[in-house]
Amino acid sequence: MTKLKNWSKFKVERLNYSNALKRAFLMLKQQNKYPEDAQYLMEELSGFNYTQLQLHRNEIVPGDIIHKFRDGIVRLGMDEPVQYILGYAYFMDKTFTVNENTLIPRQETEEMVQRIISDHSNKKQSILDIGTGSGIIAINLALTFPGDDILATDISEDALKVAQLNADNYQTNNVFFKQSDLFKEINNERFDVIVSNPPYISLDEKKIMDPSVIKYEPDLALYGDNNGLEFYQDITKVADQYLNIDGSLYMEFGYHQKSEIKQIFDDNMPKYQVKFYKDINGNDRYLKAKKERV
Ligand code: GLN
Repeated sequence: MTKLKNWSKFKVERLNYSNALKRAFLMLKQQNKYPEDAQYLMEELSGFNYTQLQLHRNEIVPGDIIHKFRDGIVRLGMDEPVQYILGYAYFMDKTFTVNENTLIPRQETEEMVQRIISDHSNKKQSILDIGTGSGIIAINLALTFPGDDILATDISEDALKVAQLNADNYQTNNVFFKQSDLFKEINNERFDVIVSNPPYISLDEKKIMDPSVIKYEPDLALYGDNNGLEFYQDITKVADQYLNIDGSLYMEFGYHQKSEIKQIFDDNMPKYQVKFYKDINGNDRYLKAKKERV
């Protein structure tokens, strides 16, 4: 507590970039947090990249920036993710509004979206994104394929508000949002692509997770029952009814869930061929299921 007091008493008005960062690093280190978050926060607030910050290190940090920076450092000290502090996160080189009602986009998800993009045919397609959260998957696909019709659902009204904000920001006119618990509100519709990055963490994994995730990211976006498998079970039971004959289902999953998920697909979607893909770290991460042609 005294440390925070020292920081707030500090005459921030007269700090240059170098000293502001030094002070923030020290504070975060003392609290066993991640000092590199301070660097990232300052880069985002100032608009300077790493090299520019070096070049400007002796300049006094402007008042509005240093006040936001100080506030941000205090919040980092309480484990708040830097993306919630900033109010946005990057996904596929674009910024998306995020808040405590939405998962922070992960890099692994970019790889799945990239795969959907490279698999896409020249024809216009209909796409369903289940559990859209901040809308990152749906909006990226909508921007890449302006001729496609994209429906994105989420059980959380609050998440959908964020997704709509992001869609408005990118002025997409081919993505529609609907509140729905999985397929519940989707009647008699079929899609060429269904994609989902569902909550897949089991409750007992909590103990090995970063406090910033546990304390700030929404439980609704993180955890699934049955060891995190609940949504694979529920989606595979009905997905065939919602897919066109040549349709594909893409799902992200946890790095240790491949064999259980393979079993779920064998049981519930036996006519589908399932391909598993690894992420950039070499972990099994997402799958594509497509009906085998007879
Ligand atoms: N589809 C969003 C994402 O991939 C949200 C996923 C979630 O909340 N589980 O980030």
